[in-house]
Amino acid sequence: MTAKSAAAAARATVYGYPRQGRDRELKKAVEGYWKGRVTADALRTTAAELRAAHWRRLAAAGIDEVPTGDFSYYDHVLDTSVMVGAVPERHRDAVAADPLDGYFAMARGDRTVAPLEMTKWFDTNYHYLVPELSPNTVFATDSGKPVGELREALALGLTARPVLVGPVTYLLLAKPAPGVDPAFEPLTLLDRLLPVYAEVLADLRAAGAEWAQLDEPALVQDRTPAELNAAARAYRELGALTDRPKLLVASYFDRLGDALPLLAKAPVEGLAMDFTGPAAADVDALAAVGGLPGKRLVAGVVDGRNVWVNDLERSLTTLGTLLGLADRVDVSASCSLLHVPLDTARERDVDPQVLRWLAFADQKTVEISTLARALTSGTDAVQAELAANRADLASRANSPITRDPAVRARAAAVGEVETRRSQPYADRAAAQRAALRLPLLPTTTIGSFPQTTELRTARADLRAGRIDTERYEERVRAEIREVIGFQEKAGLDVLVHGEAERNDMVQYFAERLTGYLATQHGWVQSYGTRHVRPPILAGDISRPEPMTVGWTGYARSLTDRPVKGMLTGPVTMLAWSFVRDDQPLADTARQVALALRDEVDDLEAAGTSVIQVDEPALRETLPLRAADRAAYLLWATEAFRLTTGGVRPETQIHTHMCYAEFGDIVRAIDDLDADVISLEAARSHMRVASELAVHGYPREVGPGVYDIHSPRVPGVAEIAELLRAGLRAIPAERLWVNPDCGLKTRGWPETSTSLENLVAAAHAVRAEL
Ligand code: GLN
Ligand code: ZN
Repeated sequence: MTAKSAAAAARATVYGYPRQGRDRELKKAVEGYWKGRVTADALRTTAAELRAAHWRRLAAAGIDEVPTGDFSYYDHVLDTSVMVGAVPERHRDAVAADPLDGYFAMARGDRTVAPLEMTKWFDTNYHYLVPELSPNTVFATDSGKPVGELREALALGLTARPVLVGPVTYLLLAKPAPGVDPAFEPLTLLDRLLPVYAEVLADLRAAGAEWAQLDEPALVQDRTPAELNAAARAYRELGALTDRPKLLVASYFDRLGDALPLLAKAPVEGLAMDFTGPAAADVDALAAVGGLPGKRLVAGVVDGRNVWVNDLERSLTTLGTLLGLADRVDVSASCSLLHVPLDTARERDVDPQVLRWLAFADQKTVEISTLARALTSGTDAVQAELAANRADLASRANSPITRDPAVRARAAAVGEVETRRSQPYADRAAAQRAALRLPLLPTTTIGSFPQTTELRTARADLRAGRIDTERYEERVRAEIREVIGFQEKAGLDVLVHGEAERNDMVQYFAERLTGYLATQHGWVQSYGTRHVRPPILAGDISRPEPMTVGWTGYARSLTDRPVKGMLTGPVTMLAWSFVRDDQPLADTARQVALALRDEVDDLEAAGTSVIQVDEPALRETLPLRAADRAAYLLWATEAFRLTTGGVRPETQIHTHMCYAEFGDIVRAIDDLDADVISLEAARSHMRVASELAVHGYPREVGPGVYDIHSPRVPGVAEIAELLRAGLRAIPAERLWVNPDCGLKTRGWPETSTSLENLVAAAHAVRAEL
């Protein structure tokens, strides 16, 4: 791109910044407040200091226009519910008595009331609190938070733009309140909600906002004509207001599709769009609708939800194209930086060369400001940055970490044969029946047993160097002895070793696979004060040595019953990590599958006759746009089959998923070609069993009969009743008896009684057959 005589200087901006602080100060203050160790005033002070520090940091990195209102004590969707007065009936008293305590009661519940439900924010691993609305909801404006935070930023002398969840997305994310007809559509409340947004916008204008951003990521999902019409109407009405800031409507996570022409026509002053990943197609889509004449375009060209350094030259090419399509083009990340860790500079254990391939929030803001400068002053102004970026990209592209010839050759050689078991399911089922000699309605568990304090302490001691590996492993073996002893005594048929060695079902394997990186400070908010440190899948993946064979083998040496080997599947390994962006996900999945296949084969060779490969993330990784789903399911199911395809017919492959809603992916679940699937079903009274039956699912199924999400112990009669319900859909030859999910978050007392009851119920129902 040559130097532009650009009319207006391009601005660098972002939509949000990680909230927790460099040392997770916010988490400490909020949790301290919950425990009564931190006063409300001290919490507010910490929060205000963090906001100010973050704005100053953004400005210092070259961000010209900082976001406000992106801060939250817990969750920005909950903040929106407060802003529009959508406080559920059951929380009204608490909120009236003390707004801060009431806020946390909505988030977490208290002794008397249940919290709002939590669910995933689009296809990220952030969770928001689901608004509960009903035909009787009366909205009321509370602009205190957005206005107050805008004032704070303006008082620092910064150019600031308030960011709000847009009205259409807010309503589309909501659900009918408990007790309300489930067919009630919250979007029908739009006319009642818009006046509230009008008041908030007027208040922001009065407080000095030149622009306000309304986030509408729900418009990147497939929407009905009625929903699109509602969106058009919403922005026609908000645009027609006279007392308001200029409006910037933002979308992210995917392409806008049918919503693009209507937003382009809407009487708002700007759009902020995602041009990364699948949304890169929106460059052409924008040209096709004639661009945004007279409007501002904020171009999300820096990936806001992954951790890789930006290809600045490629972004400049995109920006160059976009310059011809709008009145003015500014630069941003594709979405809020909430979804990435804070700063690579804090990582001490990552090779400095590799660290240069990574960009966390603080590195992304510098990239954005570099791109904006290049847009304003031409590339000559950023020669040094471009040269350094070229060198980093080249180092990444040519590194033996990202290019392992052996891994690549093996992946390239995979054919149809490797992704198929040697015999069809029906023949395998007969071979397995003969080899395993299990009773009808065999009993088992999903893998993990309670993670006791002793275990956690032992792991912390090992990390801190207080105990050596040998001591630690002895501790784990002691736990395995305990778990096996219990299962034998309880009378379970297929045992597990209990997963005592695992901190987390992805991290444990990531730490043992070549090609994965771990961070020390790469925290990302999962929900509220809970943060996770996803591993970074940085290079070509291989497995230098067995990962679980020793533990499973030890467990097997203690019993005559079959012990199920236990692995995390390839899709879940990707879904709960930051994945490389320099090759298709399908290629990365295939490499992970091959590494896991080695483990499956070694488990079998060591004498394991039942192996479970967990894929709880199969469904949540579904692309947002239906048009992309078939291609995803194709590589996802192939990766599972590649993982498990190498075993003998008589080796039984199990899989596990944590949910019961999957009518739309039954075909894909069948395509996994597993022998047995276990699923969550206790709370829905085995509905999933009949769903599978209706779809003609031919394999063995273990619909959960024990809800492990609560400490409640299910009684024998109750479990037997669920089993009888299961038998009405699935024949006895194909029905397993197991809990809904792993037991790691449970305590021993309720676990042991519940599993004893589960075995007793299985015996009782077997006697009726
Ligand atoms: N095997 C794992 C466990 O039991 C499965 C966890 C999961 O499905 N999330 O913990
Ligand atoms: Zn589960």
